[in-house]
Amino acid sequence: MHREQLFSTTSGSRVREEIQPTLPLPIAHGLLGASVVAALRPSSERQAWKPLLIGAFLGIAPDFDYALNWLRISWGGWHHGFTHSIPFALLVGFIVIALFRDWKLRSYLVFTLAYASHTLLDFIFTESRGVALWWPFTNQRYKLRLPGLIEYSWSHASVWETLVDVLQICLLELVIFGPILLAVLWVRHVISSRTWKRSVPPAVAGGCAALKQVGAVIAKYTRQ
Ligand SMILES: [Zn+2]
Repeated sequence: MHREQLFSTTSGSRVREEIQPTLPLPIAHGLLGASVVAALRPSSERQAWKPLLIGAFLGIAPDFDYALNWLRISWGGWHHGFTHSIPFALLVGFIVIALFRDWKLRSYLVFTLAYASHTLLDFIFTESRGVALWWPFTNQRYKLRLPGLIEYSWSHASVWETLVDVLQICLLELVIFGPILLAVLWVRHVISSRTWKRSVPPAVAGGCAALKQVGAVIAKYTRQ
C-alpha cells in the first residue's frame, strides 16, 4: 500500500502523487556527507571529527523538507523541492562557514559539496517525480532513476513490521555506505602518514644539530 499526497504543478493545477519509499534513508546520506568532508579536509586539523559530524548532518539536512509536508503547509509536495536544489546548497555552504566563522574557500566548497551530495544521490536513484535541481530558476524536476542499490519492501501491516523494515534498510545502507567512509578515512590516514614520514628527516636533522651543539659546549667546558 502506498500513501498519496497532493502537490501543485508549475501550472498551478493540483494532482496526486503516490509516495513511494525511495533511496536513500538518513544512514546513506549521512555517511556520504561525512565521506565528502573526509575526502576534502586534512586529517591533521585538531578535532577532525567535528567537520565529519557537520558533513553527516548536512548530508541528511535536505530531507528536513518532510517537515513541511507533515505540517501540511500549502498543498504539500515539498519533498525533493527547494531544499534539494544546487543554488540552495550554495547558500547552505555560506551559512555553515558563517556559523562556524570558518571563512576559507576550501571550507565553503567542502560543506557545500557535503550538502549537495544528498541532491546527487536523490537525483540518481529517486523513484519520485524528480528533484528540483535548479530552484529558484525553475521548478522543473529532474531524475536519472538508475536501478536502486537497495530493494525496498514496506509492508505497512503494523508499526512493528514497519519498524523492522526501516531497521533492515538502515542496516543495508550501513553495509553499502559504511565501507565507503572507512575507505576514504583509510586513504586519508595513509596520505597524512606519508606526509609525516617526509617531514621526519628535517626534524631528525634539527634534533641532531641541537645535540651536536650541546656536545660541543660540554666538550669546551670539560677541556678547561
Ligand atoms: Zn532527499
